[in-house]
Amino acid sequence: MTRLAERITKLRSRIQKACANSGRESEQVELLPVSKRQPLILIQEAAELGFHRFGENYVQEGTGKALAAPGLAFVLIGPLQRNKARQALTGFRELMTVDRPELVERLRRLAEELDLVRGIWIQTDLWDEQTKLGGCDSAGIAAVFQALDGDPRLPVQGFMAIPPPLSPAGAFQAMARLREDWQQRRGQRLRLSMGMSADLEPAIAAGSDQIRIGTAFFGDRQAPA
Ligand SMILES: *Cc1c(COP(=O)(O)O)cnc(C)c1O
Repeated sequence: MTRLAERITKLRSRIQKACANSGRESEQVELLPVSKRQPLILIQEAAELGFHRFGENYVQEGTGKALAAPGLAFVLIGPLQRNKARQALTGFRELMTVDRPELVERLRRLAEELDLVRGIWIQTDLWDEQTKLGGCDSAGIAAVFQALDGDPRLPVQGFMAIPPPLSPAGAFQAMARLREDWQQRRGQRLRLSMGMSADLEPAIAAGSDQIRIGTAFFGDRQAPA
């Protein structure tokens, strides 16, 4: 077994255990490998093991990989600036860090111009982190939904969150309540993308539908360029 296959086996058993502990089926939790600052060769090895969608943080890096590996799908999980919106729409299947109406307006114009359909996730930050990580609060979510105005080119898949590292469990539970609330308001199913290598267990316990796993899947990342 390669080191990658070994890590994935370990990770799968962690996920299975977390699911069993909260009475969930492991098929209910999507594992999204995060391939930022991982070499293409390792991504291709993961593809041979059955993974075809990968999370990437940087528009430039992710677009480059998408061009080099046209059979694979990449989703953007890192911050998106308006001036990179065109490149992001072209290179990524889904955009998971949409958090403000100005960005939505630009994406809507470009999606029409480019004639593309792209899944949208609303990045949520209920903890007032005010960090570079981005994300909007409850009022911001309403504003994003309003700006999207049900545009069929940009269907909302759900909410993505990065919780404060010191108290993830409570944050994940708050996200679960927020999801319930918005599902009722919108009358549609909304998924939760939350949980990373260090905190996938509390995320799964709180009902996460998708965990985004970098180091526990691929191993240590390369140093930033
Ligand atoms: C890097 C990153 C991940 C994966 O982090 P790990 O701790 O390596 O699992 C998940 N989500 C986002 C938004 C990231 O930036």
